[in-house]
Order: sequence, then C-alpha cells, then structure tokens
Amino acid sequence: MKIILMGAPGAGKGTQATFLKEKYKIPQISTGDMLRAAVKGKTDLGLRAEDFMSQGLLVPDNLIIDLVKLRINEDDCKNGFLLDGFPRTIPQAQAMIDAKISIEYVIEVAVPDNEIVNRLTGRRIHLASGRIYHVTHNPPTKDGIDDITGEPLIIRDDDKESTIIKRLKTYHEQTEPLVNFYSDLAKKNSTNTLNFISIDGVDRPDNINSKIENKLK
Ligand code: AMP
Repeated sequence: MKIILMGAPGAGKGTQATFLKEKYKIPQISTGDMLRAAVKGKTDLGLRAEDFMSQGLLVPDNLIIDLVKLRINEDDCKNGFLLDGFPRTIPQAQAMIDAKISIEYVIEVAVPDNEIVNRLTGRRIHLASGRIYHVTHNPPTKDGIDDITGEPLIIRDDDKESTIIKRLKTYHEQTEPLVNFYSDLAKKNSTNTLNFISIDGVDRPDNINSKIENKLK
C-alpha cells in the first residue's frame, strides 16, 4: 500500500499515520520528523532547514525532494509506505510523478482553521518516538510525561500561536492546491490506480481511522 496523507498542520495526520502504518505494516515517512532530526543533529540539511521551519515556512523543494526519493528506495519501502507531510507543493508532487513513484491512495484529513489553532496550542510531543498528546483531548497519564518511557514531553517551537497562523497560511497557499491536483489526477487516471479520499477530520481519532479504513480497498 502506497499512501499520501494530506492535511493542514494539526489536522491529525500523525495520529492517523500511526494507525495506518501498524495496520498495513508499512513505514511512516514523515518529512517533518526527518527535518527535526536533522536540525537536532546539526547536519548540513538541518542547518539549512532550521530558519524556514522556525518561521512556519516550507523548506525549499530541492532540499526535500531528493531526501524523500532516497528514503523511498530503502528496503523497508518495498511493500509500500505512508508519506506524512510530503508532498507539500505542486513541484514536490510533480517530482514524484517524474520519478515514476506511483501512489494508490491520497487521503486528505480536512479540519477548519479555528479547530486547528485550538488543537496545536495544546499539543505535546515525545521527541524520540513521535508520540503525540493533547492537554485536553488526549492527555498523558502524568502531566508533561510520556506514558511509555517516562521521559518529558515538549512543545514544538512551531506550535506557538503566531507560528501556527503562519503555517496555516503557508498550507492554504502552497499545499491545499494539491487537493485539486490529486482529485483531478484520480479522475483522469484511466487505470484507476490512484484514489483520492477526503475525510472530515473533526471527530475522535479512532472514528476518523474507521472512516479511512472503510474507504481503503
Ligand atoms: P510537519 O511536522 O510535517 O508539520 O513539518 C514541520 C516543518 O518542516 C514544516 O513547517 C516545514 O517547515 C518543514 N517541512 C516538512 N515537510 C516539508 C515538505 N514536504 N516540504 C517543505 N517543508 C517541509
């Protein structure tokens, strides 16, 4: 199964990705996680990406496209993969088509902006595993502590309200056009290998997961 998971920052892509990767036994490729690891490790990529990320802007396409292509070529992606946070621009989507990387499902998790601002300001992350909590919707057992490892949870720099507003603007301007791009492509696709699915993301995570799985053949 080759899946692209789309949606604004905070739409719940990460949570759905966790469900889907376990069910279909495919690796989750999160470009946000890859970039955060690069920033933490102070690699060349990390140093180049850091300023864009902290300002709520996308990193330039050329920094991310090759990174994803290399990752998809690794052994664990032979039976499929789940792209979370990529592609985020039309040139990124076009680069995948040019590289003949075929996708079976593009899933959009749709959530209105006001709901997103509320969600992201309460979001807490366990950095090492990527586990996500929310202070009211999905709190850890102990305030500020990861349930599994007992390690402290963090607030991402880019989850500050002013940055969130900027990230939403970036999403509407640069990433949302991919909704039409992929739904048009799915309609045109004569062999019917690409399917576009849009799911209402204002619901409990397990309900959203059921709605998605009902649509996957
Ligand atoms: P995320 O965790 O997916 O919200 O990504 C965090 C940040 O990493 C984004 O706000 C961007 O600055 C950067 N980023 C992640 N994926 C991409 C991508 N496909 N293209 C450009 N920038 C990205």
